[in-house]
Amino acid sequence: MEDIRNNWTKEEILEIYNKPLMELLYEAATVHRQYHDPNTVQVSTLLSVKTGGCPEDCGYCPQAARYHTDIEGNDLMSVQQVKAQALRAKSSGSSRVCMGAAWRNVKDGPEFDQVLEMVRTINKLDMEVCCTLGMVTENQAKRLAEAGLYAYNHNLDTSEEYYKEVISTRGYEDRLETIENVRKTNVTVCSGGIIGMGESVEDRAGMLVALSTLSPQPESVPINALVAVEGTPMEDEKPVEIWEMIRMVATTRIVMPKTQVRLSAGRTEMTREGQAMCFFAGANSIFAGDKLLTTPNPDVNEDMEMFNQLGLEPQKAFVKAPQPETVEAADSQYASLGEKPKWTRPSHTIERNEKAKQKAVLTPKK
Ligand code: SF4
Repeated sequence: MEDIRNNWTKEEILEIYNKPLMELLYEAATVHRQYHDPNTVQVSTLLSVKTGGCPEDCGYCPQAARYHTDIEGNDLMSVQQVKAQALRAKSSGSSRVCMGAAWRNVKDGPEFDQVLEMVRTINKLDMEVCCTLGMVTENQAKRLAEAGLYAYNHNLDTSEEYYKEVISTRGYEDRLETIENVRKTNVTVCSGGIIGMGESVEDRAGMLVALSTLSPQPESVPINALVAVEGTPMEDEKPVEIWEMIRMVATTRIVMPKTQVRLSAGRTEMTREGQAMCFFAGANSIFAGDKLLTTPNPDVNEDMEMFNQLGLEPQKAFVKAPQPETVEAADSQYASLGEKPKWTRPSHTIERNEKAKQKAVLTPKK
């Protein structure tokens, strides 16, 4: 098996992305077979453990408090609620639970302690546990690892250049620093992005350069198609064409051969044929459940029917990396440091974000 390359250039990636489609598919499917069982697809369940009210201004996100969307905010779920949902997910074929909290960054304190308890609880159910909680410090990443976290998700979203057109409340370097902090532990890294936000093909390639030149590359890369939600700055973006999704998945597969490439948001807009082509192009992970944090997702039964039709099997837990051990809170080596890290606040103006914010001020929430 050839070595993984960590020196991809934007030009090389663009050349792959723009190949004639049949050639691109053949190449991606060939790489896929060298590193993975093509009939196995990992199934994750995404659980929003704390919804809405986020102080960030991500232009695609209905959970940002400054935009008015139909999202109903919720406080942090209890450990028991999370356990019940995880058991449900397990019985419908999920091997991983990914818990999302609409936070800018993790803050030491009772809420983080509660999330650590959720991690312990799910790991003890013999499921892979992933969290997406915003920026984390090294000590926080170590505490998550000690609790039994399997993966941490922190998306780069897009290229460094286009990021400035999407978010003004934090910088790209914060994303990279969080990934570095996670890499100081045995927790695997999940990081990907979104297409269809008005970015160019060069930006898509730029994001893949940023991800594929990480060493090691992320173990998991979600590729999302924007779900344009009314009230967000991106509400008028046109849906992503299936061909763009297939090209993005295939290119990701070629430049990051060992990674699990995940079909994420936007799957409700895809036909089964379209999804099948994405699996052929190297996608080998999906999010299951009828909601993806706050946007719609195909129903679990529909997904299992699709798996039967295509002869796909859900991947078992811990086949790519061993199950972490859980250390109980009382035996922890890492104290809560009460850190107040200075994550960046670029605060430049993004016109469409400003407009959506103004619109929200003028049209109060129902
Ligand atoms: S994507 Fe995350 S950080 Fe950005 S507004 Fe939404 S919840 Fe907040």
